[in-house]
Amino acid sequence: MSQPDRPRRIGVLAVQGAVREHVAAITDIGAVPVEVRLPRDLVDLDALVLPGGESTTMRRMIDAYGLREPVRAMAAGGSPVLGTCAGMILLASGIDDGDEPVLAALDIAVRRNAYGRQLDSFEADLEVPAIGPEPLHAVFIRAPVVTDIGAGVEVLARDPDGRPVAVRQGRVLATAFHPELTTDRRIHRLLLTSIEAPAERPA
Ligand code: GLN
Repeated sequence: MSQPDRPRRIGVLAVQGAVREHVAAITDIGAVPVEVRLPRDLVDLDALVLPGGESTTMRRMIDAYGLREPVRAMAAGGSPVLGTCAGMILLASGIDDGDEPVLAALDIAVRRNAYGRQLDSFEADLEVPAIGPEPLHAVFIRAPVVTDIGAGVEVLARDPDGRPVAVRQGRVLATAFHPELTTDRRIHRLLLTSIEAPAERPA
């Protein structure tokens, strides 16, 4: 069971994308970052982060390194997982563009790069009650739009137009934005605290 004296080990899928920034965020919250490139790197992790990047490339690398099944099993087994931007796309159970889902660990549908040209990159202050009353400054870069969410999925934050941009199902958490690119660590802390949270019934 839990070993409170041991620092938590949080993996970062390190096949492509914004790995370094998540490693820094994990260090900031007092956990041990572990770069994951091979299935054996998943051993003894308390949680896993799937970073932003290019989901098409990440999908290829995940399969090339045999990571798809072990990562899917980790999420299905109740381990905390955080996917940011491309990481959200990897977790989604539906991708509107016709791509096959990768991990299908989160009951949402997404459309890639769907904020449109004018909004390729933008920033917004979001209300995220689950992490406290202070708004969260969020950076969006060619972000996916969440187009559908299942009944078991909780919306933690919405963009200024009301679309979900942070969602949670059990211990699987995903953001369309990049919490690793700002200094606010509350999303990473939410992942860390979910390691300790009592197990919820699988959705
Ligand atoms: N547009 C990217 C994709 O579709 C995601 C962008 C990001 O992670 N910053 O994979």
